[in-house]
Amino acid sequence: MREIGHFIGGQVVKGTSGRFGDVFDPNTGEVQAKVAFATPSEVGHAIAVAAAAQPTWAAINPQRRARVLMKFIDLVQKEFDGLARLLSSEHGKTFADAKGDVQRGLEVVEFACGIPHLLKGEYSEGAGPGIDLFSVRQPLGVVAGITPFNFPAMIPMWKFAPALACGNAFILKPSERDPSVPMRLAELLVAAGLPAGVLNVVNGDKEAVDTLLTDARIKAVGFVGSSAIAEYVYTTACAHNKRAQCFGGAKNHMIVMPDADMDQAVDALIGAGYGSAGERCMAVSVAVPVGKKTADILLEKLAPRVESLKIGPSTDTQADYGPMITRAHLEKVKSYVDLGVREGAKLVVDGRGFKLQGYERGNFMGGCLFDEVTPDMRIYKEEIFGPVLSVVRATDYEEAVRLPSRHEYGNGVAIFTRDGDTARDFVSRVDVGMVGVNFAIPVPLAYYTFGGWKRSGFGDLNQHGPDAIRFYTKTKTVTARWPSGVKEGAEFVIPTMK
Ligand code: NAD
Repeated sequence: MREIGHFIGGQVVKGTSGRFGDVFDPNTGEVQAKVAFATPSEVGHAIAVAAAAQPTWAAINPQRRARVLMKFIDLVQKEFDGLARLLSSEHGKTFADAKGDVQRGLEVVEFACGIPHLLKGEYSEGAGPGIDLFSVRQPLGVVAGITPFNFPAMIPMWKFAPALACGNAFILKPSERDPSVPMRLAELLVAAGLPAGVLNVVNGDKEAVDTLLTDARIKAVGFVGSSAIAEYVYTTACAHNKRAQCFGGAKNHMIVMPDADMDQAVDALIGAGYGSAGERCMAVSVAVPVGKKTADILLEKLAPRVESLKIGPSTDTQADYGPMITRAHLEKVKSYVDLGVREGAKLVVDGRGFKLQGYERGNFMGGCLFDEVTPDMRIYKEEIFGPVLSVVRATDYEEAVRLPSRHEYGNGVAIFTRDGDTARDFVSRVDVGMVGVNFAIPVPLAYYTFGGWKRSGFGDLNQHGPDAIRFYTKTKTVTARWPSGVKEGAEFVIPTMK
């Protein structure tokens, strides 16, 4: 059985804990590898290695740090298909979707290559007599990233690229469910010229995470995963004097106004609701048609499309989506569908019984579509994270704005309309972090920031874009007076710039 260890000090090392997690092949349900779970002392060793390597890395000028990232992009591009195949073999998403996962990560690495410009500080000449005032951004030291299973290439890159560009050393704790791509990215970074020890990968579970959260040498923690863990990581990291940004779960609504292009709206719902088997934090899980007529037309067009979704193994290039990550997750998603039926929602399309010939033990599930879902139902309140779309009928636009605004999650939301006034009002008023207008998955590009509101995001700064540079640096502000500006004698009052 293939064993996945850790990546410490520029090389792959075997785990010593004797504790392992199973890495499944989601197509067959078989265990395909064992991943080592790090002990606190293994994590502590990785932190020590990172702390020793960080000052030299920080002393390298930003242009040269950027060149390492440029070379890394080059190496990832050369290995693009191989990485995407490895990714889909552990995650289960289709090859085409896995390529998107790598691509959206690389775009943040490209953004981080602008670090010489992004790190520029501020300078005020003549702020007082002979006095100049300036600020510089300095790295924090050793920082950590804890990432989820659903984007095993993209989210690690979102975390480590800006952090490394800023001159930090990095400890990555990827998801234990699909750790091979993060391990390979670490090797490619070293091949690109990153000094050994600047980026380390520790695999593991809560024990490894808790060590990162409590060790004083870790200065900042970036987390992405479910909301309960995000909140735990945020409060624990803050209690240990660390900077933290922790992104959680979601329940993304898509409002369909009566004037929307219905075919476009249906295409958008099919792709955003069922792509990647719904295992995306920006997946649309709630459709909100406004008015009975809109709802009836939408359902009539949507139901046959859900029924005809093509579900196949991750290797099937014709499949719309592949298997879910684990059998346990599949069972959880199915149990939510059972719950929806008990709660009184109308199950228009039932994909629970779906079986794929030749892959009977794989984690496959057909698309499910609920109508007449109401806000008091648990299937509306909770994140399901599967190929299940709920339709909540709104009587008017005001109700449609209220639904996502009052939901405890606030990651993404979309409105489909041809009316500019309505779209503008919605963008302004909706209480959600990322908004799409006739765009179902509004994941901002690398040079803007990504982050949800309410229980979808804990902390002040978003991921990538300018916020990432703020998060991974601390600002030092310098007041410098030159000898010609120095007045004689001691000053006993607070200096003011008269
Ligand atoms: P998860 O919360 O189970 O795991 C995330 C990370 O936390 C993993 O590295 C895991 O090992 C670790 N972890 C798990 N339990 C822990 C514990 N008790 N203590 C400490 N660490 C623990 O999430 P997941 O199932 O891997 O990912 C799916 C979730 O991530 C969904 O809720 C999805 O919405 C969310 N997500 C959010 C975003 C975003 O940007 N908001 C992006 C992608 C995924």
